[in-house]
Amino acid sequence: METFDLAVVGGGVIGAATVRACLQKHRGLKACLIEREPELARHQSGRNSGVVHVGYNQKPGTVKARFVVEGSRRLRQYCREHNVALVEDGILIVAKDEREVAVLKELKKRGDGNGARVEIVDAERLHELEPQAAGIAALLAPDGSSFDSRGYVLSLAEAGRELGATFFLSEAVQDLKENGNGVEIQTSTRTIRAKVLVCAAGLYADRLAHKLGMGLKYQMVPFRGEYHELIPERRDLVRAHIYPAPDLHFPFLGVHLSRTFDGRVLVGPGAVLALGRESYDKSQINLSDIFEMARRKGFWKLFLSKEFRDVARQEWKKSLFAQAVLAEAQQLLPALRNGDLVPSRAGIRAQLVSQDGQLVEDLTVEESDRTIHVLNAVSPALTCSLPFADHLSELVDKRL
Ligand SMILES: Cc1cc2nc3c(=O)[nH]c(=O)nc-3n(C[C@H](O)[C@H](O)[C@H](O)COP(=O)(O)OP(=O)(O)OC[C@H]3O[C@@H](n4cnc5c(N)ncnc54)[C@H](O)[C@@H]3O)c2cc1C
Repeated sequence: METFDLAVVGGGVIGAATVRACLQKHRGLKACLIEREPELARHQSGRNSGVVHVGYNQKPGTVKARFVVEGSRRLRQYCREHNVALVEDGILIVAKDEREVAVLKELKKRGDGNGARVEIVDAERLHELEPQAAGIAALLAPDGSSFDSRGYVLSLAEAGRELGATFFLSEAVQDLKENGNGVEIQTSTRTIRAKVLVCAAGLYADRLAHKLGMGLKYQMVPFRGEYHELIPERRDLVRAHIYPAPDLHFPFLGVHLSRTFDGRVLVGPGAVLALGRESYDKSQINLSDIFEMARRKGFWKLFLSKEFRDVARQEWKKSLFAQAVLAEAQQLLPALRNGDLVPSRAGIRAQLVSQDGQLVEDLTVEESDRTIHVLNAVSPALTCSLPFADHLSELVDKRL
């Protein structure tokens, strides 16, 4: 049996940033990261919008609000210092009518409360910044940026490797036992004993926690974010990032247009209930995931709520008919025409749902004597990753 001071499960951004943060603090710590895929960042951390958010959406006082503002600043600095592609081009959240202007005012209040740099601009300034966008006002977040999220995770992992971490790839953690002064981790190829375990398993965070009797009041519900993108000849319609005013009752941002670090323009993502934790394609159905999801009452409470069903219906429409995505995007960018959008990649968001059917919005961690479970590293956890990893490394510290 191999022994380590620290084992981290999950080679997404949270796992990679946590290994690095722990080793930076404790040089010589014997640490490993276990990832079941042959490479890092195969799931959420490599399939996302690649936007550095700035902290106008989060309610002041939440953990996420605290981490997103600090995380945004540190992430941009990290990218500059470590040659991770970054384009600092600003985000605009556009209001079409007075009702949406009220949403912008709420976002401005949240941004001010969180210490984010945001201002409301009039239609004239909006058109100077994004000539093709339609709206009567906008919230401008000049620090919003796009970056290479996969490159970022690989860079964090490389730093961890240089500090001595061992990476076990293509090894799935199958079982966990916490006993005495540590944890026994059964992977598909070996047994590892660690003094401290951090689980950052994204879409499978609940399953690993449940093995130790933790996180029992939660389940993971996967939401697929499907993207389209603008054909190359029409990319000039968008300079940076154009978002709609969000529905503040749901943690999804709505179909937006976002210029990536490499010059493409993504349109999306939707947020449709996925019929499997890795159902990246709508034709993929995983019956055992569906039965597992449907066995728990939190799912039914969510699913049966009228508000959720209304949103789900609209999201399915967008998933099935590209015309519905075009129509939503045209509200932001009227110049869009049939044929301007082509289907692009999809990502699946690991959304924690509580027993009473609520979508958990804040970052959520549960701890036992020897283990730390990241149950809800929900969007924008890429942006939050550096302060979040520091927080997890403090929890590790207490156990070493
Ligand atoms: C469509 C979409 C768009 C987004 N856009 C943004 C954005 O623009 N900006 C932003 O800040 N955030 C964004 N996010 C959120 C962000 O991507 C996630 O919050 C973040 O990547 C979560 O990281 P993670 O490390 O927790 O999870 P993941 O990246 O999913 O990593 C978890 C890892 O654990 C591994 N794993 C799971 N089970 C096991 C096991 N049993 N054994 C070993 N390994 C295991 C998985 O293979 C995976 O690699 C977006 C998310 C989605 C889905």
